[in-house]
Amino acid sequence: MSRAHNFSAGPATLPEPVLRQAQQEMLEWHGAGASIVELSHRGPEFLQVAAQAEADLRTLLSIPSDYAVLFLSGGATMLQALLPLNFAAPGQAADYVLSGHWGKTAIKQARPCVAANIAASSEAGGFRDLPARDAWQLSDGAAYVHITANETIHGVEFREVPDVGGVPLFADFSSSIASEPLDISRFGVVYGGAQKNLGPVGISFAIVRRDLLGRQGQPRAEILDYRAHAAKESMLNTPPTWNWYLLGLTVKWMLDEGGVAEFARRNARKAAALYAAIDGSDGYYRNEVSPAVRSRMNVPFFLHDAALDKAFLEEARAAGLIGLKGHRALGGMRASIYNAMPEAGVQALVDFMGDFRTRHG
Ligand code: PMP
Repeated sequence: MSRAHNFSAGPATLPEPVLRQAQQEMLEWHGAGASIVELSHRGPEFLQVAAQAEADLRTLLSIPSDYAVLFLSGGATMLQALLPLNFAAPGQAADYVLSGHWGKTAIKQARPCVAANIAASSEAGGFRDLPARDAWQLSDGAAYVHITANETIHGVEFREVPDVGGVPLFADFSSSIASEPLDISRFGVVYGGAQKNLGPVGISFAIVRRDLLGRQGQPRAEILDYRAHAAKESMLNTPPTWNWYLLGLTVKWMLDEGGVAEFARRNARKAAALYAAIDGSDGYYRNEVSPAVRSRMNVPFFLHDAALDKAFLEEARAAGLIGLKGHRALGGMRASIYNAMPEAGVQALVDFMGDFRTRHG
């Protein structure tokens, strides 16, 4: 068996020890007589798995006790749609900072239920930069300000938490959660899908400042209500137990590896190596994002001649490097280098890029 270095944006590479443990426990979990995925979500075995995953995530991310942690299905897109339903009164405005494809999705999902104001946008510049904070036009009485912490497709990342005064800041951290230390107390809601840094697709997380759960929001079914999910510890209905279990293993692996401070160091080194290879290629490879806001997680890049793209992808695959095809919105290449991507994987990519250039230069 040979596993390639997988640069896929999500679903993405998982730590090998996590996959091995899941494989080992697949048929029977800890003497329970069945796989964890076959047991009731209300039984003692899964309750233990669920509680441990939450406790470990709280430790990993230093989540303050006045924040609820929700594990939900439906993906980050579903959470985007639920934000206004739960946190904006009928007719109330909410401010959105548009910095890429996923910010646009957040607005699209919210629009039916909130007066979504685009407070700032970097669209005119092709999302190659972030809108400068002093140009944001925040509305009076907004329910919240929404940002996309890391734009997975455009490769643009907030490198500091913007100050939005007393209005709760909501942030989509789908593709950068746990990649470095984060002061959760600066946010009202931190949310995302798990399928990049926290484990498998099929489960998403919302870290919600508890006082916000007191907001009335808008008429909605109980299953769309965060307060109800929080009260029932994300077991309002049958949760995605297998995904929750894998998330727990992934979080535990990150703690064992040294936690977010250690991943911040590794991620900084990985990103530096890859951007250096691109920038140092005399234009053979090109990343167009403003250096100050380049993502440490998703590195989109282009070959100087798009006619070489096909050969690049084929030869990369032959060299054991997969998942490099760029998103169709941008074309070119994209290397996603999440926590589970080892430094050796990035080095292998950098080496391959050099070889490819030599061969096709
Ligand atoms: N936000 C961001 C930043 C993403 O990268 C993605 C998925 N790639 C989404 C939202 C949508 O997530 P999902 O497919 O889980 O709904």
